[in-house]
Amino acid sequence: MKLDEPYNNENIFAKILRGDLPAIKLYEDDTTLAFMDIMPQIEGHCLVICKEPATNLLTVSPQAAQDIICTTQLVAGAVQNALTAPGIMIAQLSGSAAGQTVPHIHMHILPRYNGIELAFHAQAVADMNELEAVAAKIRAAL
Ligand code: AMP
Repeated sequence: MKLDEPYNNENIFAKILRGDLPAIKLYEDDTTLAFMDIMPQIEGHCLVICKEPATNLLTVSPQAAQDIICTTQLVAGAVQNALTAPGIMIAQLSGSAAGQTVPHIHMHILPRYNGIELAFHAQAVADMNELEAVAAKIRAAL
């Protein structure tokens, strides 16, 4: 997708926001939603989106960008505490050339550990019970 591509209301995250698709939710407020990534690159990999319909970091409003960062900080802290991760990686991909696959802006939160590499991006769907168990730990740390 190009950086100036118009917003597509049929993308997966728009459907999650409308309630048309399920998600393992971690946190929600008036402007943002955080949920588990179903193809995690490491245990605890989760995503933060804004409710504003925006495709990427270059087209989202400054206010929604701030909202995403604040929620990312909140949820990243909970991930760190819940999983005792010594490092947290935040990733944001804008445009298919950068590897973006879902055209609704999102931040990736990835706990990191010395010597442990990430799995491939968006490759293998995780077991839903295992994802829910990790989500419960993160929610309890919020
Ligand atoms: P990106 O490639 O940066 O656009 O990241 C999109 C992310 O969304 C990937 O890490 C996918 O694993 C994840 N993903 C795709 N579909 C879903 C879904 N239905 N629920 C949760 N995460 C998803």
